[in-house]
Amino acid sequence: MNKLDNLITKYPNIFQPSDFTRSRYGGTFYFECENGWYDILDQMFSILEPIAELENSSRDETDRISVAQIKEKFGILRIYIDGIYEINEAQQAVDAAEKASKIVCELCGGPGKLFPKGWMKTHCDACHQNWFETK
Ligand SMILES: [Zn+2]
Repeated sequence: MNKLDNLITKYPNIFQPSDFTRSRYGGTFYFECENGWYDILDQMFSILEPIAELENSSRDETDRISVAQIKEKFGILRIYIDGIYEINEAQQAVDAAEKASKIVCELCGGPGKLFPKGWMKTHCDACHQNWFETK
């Protein structure tokens, strides 16, 4: 089991099946990034979870705050969460997490930097060497 999947049970209000996850994964959410970004995501969800709990109690099922997709793209985190458009605190938490991923190794969680050649990846030197050799 992927370490990131722990977040699904830790934050049950924000991980409600969305239309996107239902169509793409049959309702079960899957992360499309590596474990090094666990702490970044954990911190973001600790902010989003109480917002989702409060808001979702008064929203229709189709309008609930829920994770649609979390993935690595061009070396950084891309986070899509349904239902937070007018909630500044939630938007800021998402923006902060995406920004933080630019300097954290996606594989080990240590200090990282963007390696722009070929596949763009944010890695530390050691992980990037390993990753590159096993590709
Ligand atoms: Zn690393």
